[in-house]
Amino acid sequence: MGTLWVLAFGLAPLLTAGVGLAAWRHRRDNPGARALALTLAGISGWSLACAWVLAPLAPGLRAAAYPAVFLSVGATVAGFWGLSRLVADPRWRMTRRTGVLLGVEPVALAVLSVLPATTDLVFGRTDLTAPTGAVMLVGGPLFAAHSLYSYAFIAASLLRLVRVARAGAPLARRQAVVLLVSAVPPTIGNVVMTTSMRGDGVVDLTPLFFIATGLIAGWAVLRAGLLEVVPVARDLVVETMTDGVLVSDRAGRLVDLNPAARRLLQLVRPDDVADPVGERFAALVGPTLLGAVLPDGPAADGTFASGHAVVQVSADVWLDVQTVPVGGRGHRGGRLTVVRDVSTEQRREADLRRLNAELAEHVATVERLRAALAEEAVRDPLTGLHNRRHLDRELDAAVAAGGTDPVAVVAVDVDHFKSVNDRWGHAAGDAVLCSVADELRAAARAEDVVARVGGEEFVLVLAGADAGAAAARAEELRARCAALVHAVPGGSTALTVSIGVAVAGLPGDAGPEVLARADAALYAAKAAGRDRVVLAAPGATPADVTDVFSPS
Ligand code: GH3
Ligand code: MG
Ligand code: MG
Repeated sequence: MGTLWVLAFGLAPLLTAGVGLAAWRHRRDNPGARALALTLAGISGWSLACAWVLAPLAPGLRAAAYPAVFLSVGATVAGFWGLSRLVADPRWRMTRRTGVLLGVEPVALAVLSVLPATTDLVFGRTDLTAPTGAVMLVGGPLFAAHSLYSYAFIAASLLRLVRVARAGAPLARRQAVVLLVSAVPPTIGNVVMTTSMRGDGVVDLTPLFFIATGLIAGWAVLRAGLLEVVPVARDLVVETMTDGVLVSDRAGRLVDLNPAARRLLQLVRPDDVADPVGERFAALVGPTLLGAVLPDGPAADGTFASGHAVVQVSADVWLDVQTVPVGGRGHRGGRLTVVRDVSTEQRREADLRRLNAELAEHVATVERLRAALAEEAVRDPLTGLHNRRHLDRELDAAVAAGGTDPVAVVAVDVDHFKSVNDRWGHAAGDAVLCSVADELRAAARAEDVVARVGGEEFVLVLAGADAGAAAARAEELRARCAALVHAVPGGSTALTVSIGVAVAGLPGDAGPEVLARADAALYAAKAAGRDRVVLAAPGATPADVTDVFSPS
């Protein structure tokens, strides 16, 4: 029976030590590997120490294994504590203080267990006189204290794992579940064993329960990716990324930020506080920035709104700020804010906008010039009336579009104009041409075309005017021109005009034909004595005209 226990306690560590070694090899990929290796080393040592106590050796030699029990239990507890911390937060590292706190108790118990003066306080009663087997170990007060102390750490570790398993990051959750499952059998086993160590020679079987732990942890390492580098890599990404990442809790206090966020925070707050963690997020970034990102503030029910904005925080610094609520379950809700410096892009965009505006202005100027040139090309420089080119185009269009609507052409020529030039000079002639042009323009309607087509010849296109209406309009023009008093050097003079009118409507009529008929009518008016209007009869040849008006 005793030999069997020795064998069991002696062989179990082979498994746990093997897995521990595998974990140790991963120590550079993942900080959890060291903690797992420490845990498994503790388990292995614990089991070996138990084998030693039960071994068929002299009682004095067997008692020498007592310290090893406490030291290996201490290692197991410390390793498991570290594992739970690391699963919850891969950045966690054991501080010297924690290390000392975790180490002091087992070392003290190890020493006290062998000192003759105190050994009875650790073990109430020991009987190692039998060669093997019937070992009587009864825990004393210090042993009870040691058990409570160890349980406290184990319980805290298990609670932390439960929390991670319930609400941690996906990978951490799986790791926490694996560790929980692996820790449950020995923990239950140990509680049962310890509470039943009442002096009737029961052997503490706890280390053997750790075979289950070793198997599960081994499976976890080799199959379930317990020691995958992902959490560390994720952490590294957040630490080294150029985007600032800030996490604040439900109460609005900053709980974490990466180095990039610290740098960006300094842009917003040059007077920056030494350590922003713990500060209120809103106070830290200021109401302007937060107001721009979250114009409506937190929702009425206290939950956080999402927001995104590009905010100019100083003359040449723009920040793209995006904030989202995270993990809204219970008290764990908070806010994740990602900040990116977009100053370069914004400057480029502003430059581009300015260039665009300049370009648009240039284009508008060119367009204005082009329009002015186009307008100039169809204007008569002296009178400002349209020129022959414009008249031809408009007349063709009017005749082509006319259909059943009549189109009339009125040709006006100043009578004996040459004599003005001859008597008062070219400039006086120009002035006369301008005042006649002004009069024609004033008499025209908006839809009419008024053009100067030669020296002292003008043509009007009256859209919509039939022969009767056109003749009446022409007569009005004649009368108005005749009534003009032209200032000339040393006095004034009056002049008359002769007018020919033609109406479109002949088969195959086009602008030039109608114009030719109007010209013929004008010629007829001249021939008939000037200062009159002559209407080319509809369907008439150019020679066939009707005198509609003569002064007397
Ligand atoms: P009619 O009654 O037969 O029309 O006689 P007219 O003198 O008006 O006609 P004519 O064709 O003999 O003379 C036209 C003159 O108009 C000749 C030309 O020197 C003058 N003229 C042409 N263009 C201009 C101009 O731009 N300015 C001035 N001042 N005179 C011009
Ligand atoms: Mg003339
Ligand atoms: Mg003439």
